Amino acid sequence: LAVGIVTKLNTPIVVELNMKIGIVGLGLIGASLAGDLRQLGHDLSGVSRQIETCETAVSRGMVDRASTELGSLQDTEVIFICTPIASILSTIEQLVPHLAPTTIITDAGSVKGAIASPASQLWRNFVGGHPMAGKAESGISAAELGMFAGNPYILTPLPDTPSHAIEVVTKLVRALDCRFYLATPEQHDRAVAWISHLPVMVSTSLISACLHGDDMEVLTLAQNLASSGFKDTSRVGGGNPELGRMMAEYNRDALLRSLRQYQVELEGTIDAIESHNWEQIQGLLAQNQIARNKFLN
Ligand code: NAP
Repeated sequence: LAVGIVTKLNTPIVVELNMKIGIVGLGLIGASLAGDLRQLGHDLSGVSRQIETCETAVSRGMVDRASTELGSLQDTEVIFICTPIASILSTIEQLVPHLAPTTIITDAGSVKGAIASPASQLWRNFVGGHPMAGKAESGISAAELGMFAGNPYILTPLPDTPSHAIEVVTKLVRALDCRFYLATPEQHDRAVAWISHLPVMVSTSLISACLHGDDMEVLTLAQNLASSGFKDTSRVGGGNPELGRMMAEYNRDALLRSLRQYQVELEGTIDAIESHNWEQIQGLLAQNQIARNKFLN
């Protein structure tokens, strides 16, 4: 598989059953991933921060066993790090003394540029990944089986990532019946800035703008009148604050680039309205009515 160009492979494939897989961070993504991989016949060991989470993961059948100790993953062949972004590198650092050199590590972090290269320096057999499925809720209580099927899952290996490690993670991930992609970490970060991180910042700015009108009575009326349009456009900006902060902090350059382009588009729209250029406004909306489909199909 060529790395450096965006590659899409869709046919689901079967991997050898019974790989020994570890999952660190039994939250929404980690526990869901564990449950799906276990259903495919693999042996799942989980590690999470809280013992209660470990117990829930076992009782819900997401993992075969779980512990708060990273050392419990010493015999695993592949480890998925599904902790919050800020803990991914430190988790790998703490895992290193426990692992055989053949162990493959991958992660689920929503940004890749800040992780892929330092993680590969910590552990040669590291393949960055991002399962692009999720929901507003977090933690193990929100985890569910089948969450990744039909959704994108992207891997971001580096030119010097061992091909065997890429192959193994690719096989495991493609067996989840997801839409599988390969790209560089930079391509990944720029693409998710457009379709995920920019929308969060635009949506949260939209809510702020509504709050900063100069008439309290009008604001109250607007709050009472808000329905499906506001619900759709404010959903991602009214979501998990920590996740939004992570996007800004760890994907700063790509996000700023997208925000600046958004600013240009917004200025253009303001100019057209100020100059009564209704043709331009209609043309813009007509063009984007068609363009939107390319992002959603
Ligand atoms: P989450 O629901 O909050 O789950 C993370 C879990 O990890 C927590 O519930 C916590 O469990 C455990 N944890 C936290 N720090 C840990 C540590 N140092 N060591 C071991 N376990 C630790 O978060 P998530 O939404 O699953 O996100 C996990 C990762 O997936 C993130 O890197 C995120 O960027 C990525 N991601 C998220 C989404 C999404 O839509 N949410 C989508 C794709 C990728 P306990 O404290 O309960 O033990």
